[in-house]
Amino acid sequence: MESGRAGQLRGGPRRVRVRAPGKINVSLRVGPPREDGYHGIASVFLAVSLYEEVTATRVDGDGVTVSVNGQGTLNLPLGAVPLDATNLAVRAARLLAEVSPGSTGVHLDITKRVPVSGGMGGGSADAAAALLACDALWGSGFSRDELAKIAVSLGADVPFALLGGTAVGLGVGEQLTPAISKTPLHWVLVPADYGLSTPQVYRLLDEIRLRTGTQAPLQPEIDPAILGAMRAGDAPALAPLLHNDLQEPALELAPGLGDILEAGTKAGALAGIVSGSGPTVAFLARSPRHAVELESRLEAAGMTATAVHGPAHGARIASDPAG
Ligand code: ATP
Repeated sequence: MESGRAGQLRGGPRRVRVRAPGKINVSLRVGPPREDGYHGIASVFLAVSLYEEVTATRVDGDGVTVSVNGQGTLNLPLGAVPLDATNLAVRAARLLAEVSPGSTGVHLDITKRVPVSGGMGGGSADAAAALLACDALWGSGFSRDELAKIAVSLGADVPFALLGGTAVGLGVGEQLTPAISKTPLHWVLVPADYGLSTPQVYRLLDEIRLRTGTQAPLQPEIDPAILGAMRAGDAPALAPLLHNDLQEPALELAPGLGDILEAGTKAGALAGIVSGSGPTVAFLARSPRHAVELESRLEAAGMTATAVHGPAHGARIASDPAG
């Protein structure tokens, strides 16, 4: 948080920088479409050490503006990120301004590290970061729980980006119960240089189920063995339990993902899974060293790969410029 002279004169910081993590779904089970068009899910969310960064700066006048830049080694089609009022970070700041007497004009600068439309909740992380940054900038003083309530109206994954760590998500993913997992798990992410539309992937899942006569679980549930393996940080025990109902439709929309999953297994990953609605693929490694080896092998095979670990912290103010 930067409290320069201008900020002090107005009684608050002039600039606040917040980091919020991307996520992978270690398990994602999807129910039938509900009347409101959304699907009920049961998911184990894991925040990983790939952070979006949002810097909120006070500006003269009203309104919210945004700029986006990319960082890191992942392919990022930044052109797909809207720079208007539909940007999730802008929506978050506007929503908070409505309930913040001290709101001012603000510019949001987003540094993206999470693949865009990659199934890792990057836009949701931007929204969570913008909420926390603007809350601090304007001295709104909302508690984490209050911010989480505002977050739900921005998207089902936004509350988890605020919370971070490991959590079971029910409802549309917004009913969160934190889970214990102190020992970090190590993963290698392989992003694609294209995105998949989340609604389209869900629609195709419904179609596949109709086509194949597969019954959707009315009340999707989480296998407790997953939480046990995560609590113990036991990657070999977790590997056969990774599950994603959206993997089949994602593979049908992007058949190349099958080759990536196969390449990861050949390179020695314990298991691989499409993250959320894809197309990012996450491979589970035995140890930090194994993750680095896996990353090198996948890169040698011509893929972009990056080693991460989780659980990672939720949205948090980054206090020094080097962060
Ligand atoms: P979802 O959370 O729906 O699973 P995702 O993780 O696959 O999404 P995101 O990168 O979060 O993908 O964004 C999906 C779409 O949302 C993008 O195609 C883009 O048009 C829109 N969007 C709005 N705001 C943002 C943002 N700040 N960053 C990225 N995309 C955004």
